[in-house]
Amino acid sequence: MDARNCRHCNELLRGRADKKFCDPACRSAYNYLQQRNNYHTFNKINAVLRKNRSILAAFANEMGERKYIDKIHLEMQGFQFRYFTHEVNLDKKCSVRYCYDIGYSTVADSRVELVRAKYLT
Ligand SMILES: [Zn+2]
Repeated sequence: MDARNCRHCNELLRGRADKKFCDPACRSAYNYLQQRNNYHTFNKINAVLRKNRSILAAFANEMGERKYIDKIHLEMQGFQFRYFTHEVNLDKKCSVRYCYDIGYSTVADSRVELVRAKYLT
């Protein structure tokens, strides 16, 4: 978009060179839509994280002491490996990726170990 057009309605701007909007109404509408869009993205990501967490929790509860699982079983439930809340490195080769309080550590290309978090202060 040309820098000399209103960011909201795209009308040609007149006046000061650093002007970005026609008027306060366009500025306000633009900011409102930006914020709504940001909030929408936040909600979408949060929904994915919560779903990931519930998938891990379901397997952890079902499996009891057995903690190893093939990644494909998580993926079949809709688990998205790209999304996690935080990562803890156990050593140079090994890390745990958490979705809130439950995470996994990759033990082979297609296999993970489920891990429950300890809250560290
Ligand atoms: Zn405008």
